[in-house]
Amino acid sequence: MARVDLDGNAIKPMTICMIGAGGFIGSHLCEKLMSDTSHTVLAVDVYNDKIKHLLEPESLPWSGRIQFHRLNIKNDSRLEGLIKCSDLTINLAAICTPADYNTRPLDTIYSNFIDALPVVKYCLENNKRLIHFSTCEVYGKTIGSFLPKDSPLCQDPAYYILKEDASPCIFGSVEKQRWSYACAKQLIERLIYAEGAENGLEFTIVRPFNWIGPRMDFIPGIDGPSEGVPRVLACFSNNLLRREPLKLVDGGESQRTFIYIKDAIEAVLLMIENPARASGHIFNVGNPNNEVTVRQLVEMMTKVYSKVSGEDAIQTPTVDVSSKEFYGEGYDDSDKRIPDMTIINKQLGWNPKTSLWDLLESTLTYQHRTYAEAIKQAIAKPSAN
Ligand code: NAD
Repeated sequence: MARVDLDGNAIKPMTICMIGAGGFIGSHLCEKLMSDTSHTVLAVDVYNDKIKHLLEPESLPWSGRIQFHRLNIKNDSRLEGLIKCSDLTINLAAICTPADYNTRPLDTIYSNFIDALPVVKYCLENNKRLIHFSTCEVYGKTIGSFLPKDSPLCQDPAYYILKEDASPCIFGSVEKQRWSYACAKQLIERLIYAEGAENGLEFTIVRPFNWIGPRMDFIPGIDGPSEGVPRVLACFSNNLLRREPLKLVDGGESQRTFIYIKDAIEAVLLMIENPARASGHIFNVGNPNNEVTVRQLVEMMTKVYSKVSGEDAIQTPTVDVSSKEFYGEGYDDSDKRIPDMTIINKQLGWNPKTSLWDLLESTLTYQHRTYAEAIKQAIAKPSAN
């Protein structure tokens, strides 16, 4: 049966140039596009480990609809050609791990702003649609975080719910280099928005709110550098797998909402296939019902991991560290991030489905299945030598 868009029109197969397709979000988006649609993907990245299962063997049912192009968008003239022969470009490429924002601020700014410029330019010059991935970090801190802790206004959603078309972007001082990422993302958003307003660029901007699931980042010492610091899910998974205490930065008081990657990918597919409803918009994509403090997240992950691994939790499941110790000088944080869902609901009728417990159960089952044996061997190795 022909697939139809939200307005009942048949969806025509398109060619999508997906930059950063080899990353966490890209790998899930490629999977979805291959299994549920007839679109073609030109997958651009410097790595392809996370999409290898979609590229080989050639007998796969979608073979011929996905091509991998190993290139670095910083310096490769093939990029324009790929954008030119596609109907839509999706840009996911970025340095986006908090441990890098204050320690590699230049790479962070170049990656999130400068390197995205040619992508915008080629889309504009060739009259192509662009879906650009920004971040919920562009909101920075909430207005509520500046109120006294006992102020009744702290309970008022107007002071903490983040709305695409109304909330301000509140960052720390320039010395707090943590904000280099958010600021670069904000500037590329403003540039894309201005290209839309002044020159007619057809764009959609996505602001992900903590999307998590299988294949997120790497486990240090197993499929990434031992000294690497991945994002929070992989950091905590690594501690659980190694039976080490989970490190709680500054007491784990920050609040976050987590969304299952598969729910979020449904939202992106709606944007891809409903251009008339998605173009010109900025969309929060998150799950406001899954809010926890990082401390609560750690407690839940510890319980879920015990369930999926069959191992009791260790005696001291957490240890406190300061942000300076963990992330280094120049770190800072957002207090709380709850997305407003009005715009995405109205334009695309989308809502997230998966509870935090369920998404952690699927994700940690995957982590255990994928890494537990390799970690056991890595731990056993030194004594075997
Ligand atoms: P990721 O790091 O897993 O994927 C990014 C991919 O881009 C990587 O595979 C990387 O190799 C590739 N890349 C980076 N620079 C490149 C270059 N110069 N040339 C070619 N490829 C390059 O990250 P992700 O979680 O999949 O995030 C994708 C996008 O979504 C990013 O823009 C990120 O800022 C944004 N985002 C994600 C989240 C989340 O919850 N996962 C939250 C906020 C924002």
